[in-house]
Amino acid sequence: MGEAAPGRGDGSPCPFCPDPGGKIPGVVVWEEELLRVIMDRYPVAPGHLLILPRRHHDSIDAIPVPVLARIAIVSRAAVAALRRVMRSDGASIVVQLGQAASQSVAHVHWHVVPRWTGDGLHHDDGDRTVFTYRHAEVAGWVLEEQARGLRAALGRALEDGAR
Ligand SMILES: [Zn+2]
Repeated sequence: MGEAAPGRGDGSPCPFCPDPGGKIPGVVVWEEELLRVIMDRYPVAPGHLLILPRRHHDSIDAIPVPVLARIAIVSRAAVAALRRVMRSDGASIVVQLGQAASQSVAHVHWHVVPRWTGDGLHHDDGDRTVFTYRHAEVAGWVLEEQARGLRAALGRALEDGAR
């Protein structure tokens, strides 16, 4: 769609940018002009989504306002999709900025994590904080299966939200 190749900052491969062959990393749930939604391979909860600006920005200050606005809209739709597909009761939307906040990938990204009443994920639970604890990798086929349902629900939620 005429999009310029994303920059990679220091030149090292970015796990959230397409590889030199143009392959998009991870299980893609949703893709549009300004952003992608992928499944987190190390989910803190089943259905954990990542919203990635398509262009590589390693600072939130560098992200254009239209992209930020679209991320907000897609986040809302993602919460609705998780509610429908994963039967979640709530969600945590988190973006970690800088080392102090345990940002693990330079490419600034938003987490949308489904939450259930009593799920035990707390921000004040010692080392097992929601977004720093190292979780197990989930098999690709499981993520593909979840992505299928979430893709359809996300599309519907975006249509419903279009005014
Ligand atoms: Zn990147």
